[in-house]
Amino acid sequence: MQGWEVAVVGGGAAGMLAALEASRAGARTILLEKTARLGTKLRISGGGRCNVTNALDDLRAWERMLPGNGPFLRHALRSYPPKAFLDLLTEEGVPTRVEAPYGKVFPESGKSGDVIEALVRAMRRAGVTIRTEAAVRDIRTGQDGRVEGLLLDEGRFLAADAIIWCTGGRSFPKSGSTGDGYPVLRRLGHTIAPTYPSLVPLRVEGTTPLAGVALRGVRGRVRVPGTKEPLPWDGDVLWTHFGLSGPIVLQLSRALAEGWVAGAQGSLQLDLEPERSADDLDAAIRHLVTTAGSRTARSLVPEHVPRALVPEVLAAADVPAERRLAELSKAERLRLVATLKGWSFVPSGWHSFEAAEVTAGGVVVDEVNPRTMASRLLEGLYLAGEVLDVDGYVGGYNLQAAWSTGAVAGRAAAASVLGYRKAPPSATIR
Ligand SMILES: Cc1cc2nc3c(=O)[nH]c(=O)nc-3n(C[C@H](O)[C@H](O)[C@H](O)COP(=O)(O)OP(=O)(O)OC[C@H]3O[C@@H](n4cnc5c(N)ncnc54)[C@H](O)[C@@H]3O)c2cc1C
Repeated sequence: MQGWEVAVVGGGAAGMLAALEASRAGARTILLEKTARLGTKLRISGGGRCNVTNALDDLRAWERMLPGNGPFLRHALRSYPPKAFLDLLTEEGVPTRVEAPYGKVFPESGKSGDVIEALVRAMRRAGVTIRTEAAVRDIRTGQDGRVEGLLLDEGRFLAADAIIWCTGGRSFPKSGSTGDGYPVLRRLGHTIAPTYPSLVPLRVEGTTPLAGVALRGVRGRVRVPGTKEPLPWDGDVLWTHFGLSGPIVLQLSRALAEGWVAGAQGSLQLDLEPERSADDLDAAIRHLVTTAGSRTARSLVPEHVPRALVPEVLAAADVPAERRLAELSKAERLRLVATLKGWSFVPSGWHSFEAAEVTAGGVVVDEVNPRTMASRLLEGLYLAGEVLDVDGYVGGYNLQAAWSTGAVAGRAAAASVLGYRKAPPSATIR
């Protein structure tokens, strides 16, 4: 039996940073990953290009991009800001670049494998012992009420002074994050906020015939009764055989999923003319009614709407496609304007956890110290990454949350077992 100062469970983004920082701070550290490889989810992140973080440098703006408990991350983001992670990649010979217009940061090579290799190199140099195919079944506590070590699936016990739990969420379970970390934490007294998929395609009836059609340059909004309206998003929507997907649908899926979990049915509105007000549009149509009355209603649907969707837009507005403009009633005209400014869909649910980029919900953050990521319930236990009730939008926010919470947990766990009074200082974010 070997005793470790810090044992990190889960070799994803959070776990690798936790192990690296704990070891750099001087703790004898082991990283345990149940699958055969480290960073499987990282490998598929950003379509294999790995959007590692975001160029936003305003802390308040970061919090808005993390709708799942952004304020909880304030300290972690200050203590280990995006720059700290980018410096680490630079030190490891992995240059990065920022992509307009959303400030997403990628490795210049466009290869997620470069990020994983950099982290593994850094961990090895820092002296981290890495064990793959080492599934952890449970955390054992001692008589003194603090953690004593880990019980592995193979039945072996591994003594550790501090444990950093980074088992991830439930999305993309093929990557290893199957949600098996929650029952262990629940048994130790932690509360798990209901988990649901975020950044996930949505199910909408009747889309099958349109699968593959893309609508570009629209603005999406979500309304869920009884909740604050989330940020609108501009971008593209993709019709699939089961519903809707594409960047803005993924961003807005969280608010709808949160509503479903709370028993509220929300709706999605697509503004097909985001640059024009409803009054402007109405005035333009009225002008056409008097100057081009022989044209049909079909011609009022904006040119950027794919032909396959034109009948759908008109049907949603309940306006016959061949109606001559001169014969358009006022009610029809107003319904058409309302549809162009807010084509409404009522999704019936999310696609699946398998298709979700992120898990919302998880360990409630009130039970975790935001300065150290230490459990407030069990001494010697630290939590980091997506296992926490923390989640962000598309744009590098989720990985940064994992890097920051992992780094803070690693430093704090090492400081606690080594009796340091303060974790090492780092770069700052405004
Ligand atoms: C398709 C996809 C694309 C994404 N793209 C981006 C992106 O470009 N930018 C971005 O910011 N975010 C992206 N994300 C989200 C981001 O990848 C995650 O938020 C982040 O990887 C979470 O890191 P984590 O370390 O908390 O968890 P994970 O990466 O899920 O790691 C958890 C690890 O713990 C291991 N584990 C679980 N249970 C045990 C156990 N009992 N014993 C031992 N090990 C265990 C798992 O095998 C896994 O390796 C994407 C996600 C997906 C699915």
